Amino acid sequence: MNNHYPKEACGIFGIFGHKNAYELTYLGLYSLQHRGQESAGIAVLNEGKITCQKGMGLVNEVFSPGKLNFLPGSVSIGHVRYSTTGSSMIKNAQPFIVNYQQGSIAIAHNGNLVNTSKLQNKLVADGAIFQTTMDSELIVHLIARSRKNKVEDRVIDALGRIKGSYSLLFLTSENKLIAARDPHGFKPLCLGKINDSYVVASETCAFDITNAKYIRDIEPGEIVVIGKDGVKSIKPFPKASHSFCIFEYIYFARPDSNIFGGNVYLARKNLGRQLAKEWPVEADMVLSIPDSGNYAALGYSEESKIPFEMGIIRNHYVGRTFIQPFQRSRDLGVKLKLNPINEVIKGKRIIVVEDSIVRGTTSRIRMKTLREAGVKEIHMRISCPPLRYPCFYGIDFHTKEELIASSNSVNKIAKIIGVDSLCYLSLEGMLKSMPVEGTNFCAACFTGEYPVPTKEKISKYDLEK
Ligand code: 5GP
Ligand code: MG
Repeated sequence: MNNHYPKEACGIFGIFGHKNAYELTYLGLYSLQHRGQESAGIAVLNEGKITCQKGMGLVNEVFSPGKLNFLPGSVSIGHVRYSTTGSSMIKNAQPFIVNYQQGSIAIAHNGNLVNTSKLQNKLVADGAIFQTTMDSELIVHLIARSRKNKVEDRVIDALGRIKGSYSLLFLTSENKLIAARDPHGFKPLCLGKINDSYVVASETCAFDITNAKYIRDIEPGEIVVIGKDGVKSIKPFPKASHSFCIFEYIYFARPDSNIFGGNVYLARKNLGRQLAKEWPVEADMVLSIPDSGNYAALGYSEESKIPFEMGIIRNHYVGRTFIQPFQRSRDLGVKLKLNPINEVIKGKRIIVVEDSIVRGTTSRIRMKTLREAGVKEIHMRISCPPLRYPCFYGIDFHTKEELIASSNSVNKIAKIIGVDSLCYLSLEGMLKSMPVEGTNFCAACFTGEYPVPTKEKISKYDLEK
């Protein structure tokens, strides 16, 4: 597997004009932890100078009391980076700060660019030195090379040259917080307010914890400049068709967030209801694989009128840091995290609802544990269609080979995983279950139809294989 790819599925938070900017960013990042567990960082602007604290690990590990001190300043941005094996590097932690001719700038990026190689090669040929393997670094290079006077114009120059998915926050020494979302709007980004201070976050759950009031989403293709004189909205790019990442609703975002104009919990419940309509089966109970499968399982149970049981219990104290040193086998790690209740499921025909199957490896182990607990039949129901195509826009599956559904039929997957029946939600059913009618989604991981051409990434992967 190509672990050397930078993983760009992240969470970002920013605040302008609040004396407790640092603490609020810390809280915001805490609530966005699900979007990235590899590293965390906060950059604060104070008297024209940007200071940054970042480290590897969870928010409460990086910013544990006594370890890192409060940073004064009223403007701040923060970032959490997605965790996968292999590419954990402190130099890739964000916010990433550079000093250049016009001042300093810090960047926090959620997304993945698809046209970086060509641009980067050109800059390197010109003598540019790249310090990280992040595509986000390219953006600050382009900003630094722009000849425009105002920082927002330099940002426009830079963003005009990049393609792919980006929800971005910039903190600049000109005392500005700049938020930007790519013209397709792949990744969510929301604008809120705490009294007179503005906040921007990947998801609204970060507003709830900071007592911010949601104002609106940053629009696709919009650049919002927040400064002493208030908020300025710029839409410098030609309009593009929207391609909101549907996997945010299926798995990635937190259920208590509203993104893309709708609530994630309700969307997931709807997916479960639709799944029950499409794939009914006689059984004694509906079980979920906690936590991500809970909401679709509830919907399935309500629609099918088959009782919902919490037949599998999740150990919430299993963290990556604990598992990894002791993990002799994958089975052990999976078992430690989830444990079935034999007394509930023994001898029963169960429907197991799961939000998605990616590689199929954890599902196989989980089904084995259910068998060992004595279930009679397992009918697995998945609240999205088969994941057949890699994502180049920021979700963590970059190759076809790692996706079990790319090379196996549904029947074959059922055999591999060890279930009596396996059914996936249809593409139409998934789209029908989305909260806001008429929303255009990116569903490339299911259909292979990529809204932004990804040739460069694909050929890059082929070369590196
Ligand atoms: P699998 O059986 O494919 O190994 O694992 C399926 C599980 O992975 C599901 O419980 C699903 O919630 C979870 N999952 C879905 N997408 C992702 C992802 O992008 N990253 C991680 N770490 N887990 C995911
Ligand atoms: Mg899950």
